[in-house]
Amino acid sequence: MKSQEQYAEPTADESVASRSQEKAAVLGTAAPAAAGPPPSRGNGRPIPAKLLTPPAPPPPPHLEDYLPIIGQPQINALRFLARELKGKTLKMVNSTAVGGGVAEILNRLVPLLGELEVPAHWDVITGGNDFFEVTKAFHNALHGAPYELNQQAREIFLMYNEQNRERMRFEEELVVIHDPQPVALIRARSSDSAHWVWRCHIDLSNPNPEVWEFLRPFVEQYDAAIFSSQSFARHLPTPQYLFYPCIDPLSEKNKEIDDQEVQKVCEEFGIDRSRPIVTQVSRFDRLKDPVGVVKAYKLAKKYVDCQLVLAGGGATDDPEGAVVLQEVREAAGSDPDIIILDLPPWCAHEINAIQCASTLIIQKSIKEGFGLTVTEALWKAKPTIAGAVGGIPNQVIHKLTGVLVHSVEGCAFQIRYLLTHPEFARRIGQNGREHVKENFLITTNVKRWLLLFRILNKA
Ligand code: UDP
Repeated sequence: MKSQEQYAEPTADESVASRSQEKAAVLGTAAPAAAGPPPSRGNGRPIPAKLLTPPAPPPPPHLEDYLPIIGQPQINALRFLARELKGKTLKMVNSTAVGGGVAEILNRLVPLLGELEVPAHWDVITGGNDFFEVTKAFHNALHGAPYELNQQAREIFLMYNEQNRERMRFEEELVVIHDPQPVALIRARSSDSAHWVWRCHIDLSNPNPEVWEFLRPFVEQYDAAIFSSQSFARHLPTPQYLFYPCIDPLSEKNKEIDDQEVQKVCEEFGIDRSRPIVTQVSRFDRLKDPVGVVKAYKLAKKYVDCQLVLAGGGATDDPEGAVVLQEVREAAGSDPDIIILDLPPWCAHEINAIQCASTLIIQKSIKEGFGLTVTEALWKAKPTIAGAVGGIPNQVIHKLTGVLVHSVEGCAFQIRYLLTHPEFARRIGQNGREHVKENFLITTNVKRWLLLFRILNKA
């Protein structure tokens, strides 16, 4: 346990040192050491130079590679369902190729559908900063944040959707539009028989009425809408389906890695494996409440020794990321046991290793669509503490597959409890892994798409 003095405000010299370190973390270059006290590790450690460029993506796995995980009957079921759809094509459209859960899923789903001879094309819409600022505001507003929708925002939204509509071709039998950003592409729908489906990954249970009323007329033109949780469904004249998001157990992010690899990554980032490690992996986004995590850690730290790792990065469609990162750094102060990592989006191996090294994993979201980081943590059998919001309670069944929290204090209590009750922590971690295996793997998701495609074809 640290003494109170060690949490004192940084001195002016420390602030200068930590600012140059912060810059180094963002730029990825080692900053010259400032005179005075050593720079605080907690406020930004330069990321290793080798991580500054994306690695070549490994070839995607084949269906048979999943055999040891899901078994032959499940593989056979997928092949059987795909047979009737052979040669039919499908298009997925979203707003970012990297960063965020949707891109993660599409990266795996598209090749697997291709292997099943249901060719899937993936297109990403383009837009300027003004567009992504509007869509980010929409995103927050749909999660319930106050927002005044003005004429300019409407026009920016519609103009970029129109530009993308003119640029893109829609020749597939099933077109799937992900999330609100490209929702107005439905205007491209021609009178032929293509099916259009809106796949919404965000929590619409309490949307800002103005934004929802603006988007709803587009949503209603689709043949169906898909949500990630029962509680997100809206009153719509069209059918609605429940699809859980999923992870790929063979991806760089989730495959098994040996302990030496884990150790190497921890050494690179200055994470001490001989002491408990509490981690949240998330974009630096207020809805993920990274500042709340820092506060919870600081409360728990009065009773139990641990380090806090906040590993995140900014998705390409999230202009708020840098501001939130700064807020997190300010909240962390000069605590040397808080390790903030601003990672490029391609650091899947590093995220995997950090999750594997963690004693506990937190996802203290205030609003959440589903929370793939929770799925990833459970798959690694990690005791998980998560906000009871959005699709998280579908994954974390309180005290069975993890623990749910509603406040900073609750989160601090659970950190302390799990770190001091390792047998209970181990048991919920194991249960969590089984829960993911049954419900949230990519192979289950492939099965749902095949079933939906068959249903729409017969409608
Ligand atoms: N992620 C990542 N690097 C980061 C932050 C997040 O690779 O710096 C990954 C994370 O592991 C997960 C996904 O991005 O796979 C985030 O999905 P989630 O549903 O948790 O949140 P979203 O960002 O889509 O709101």
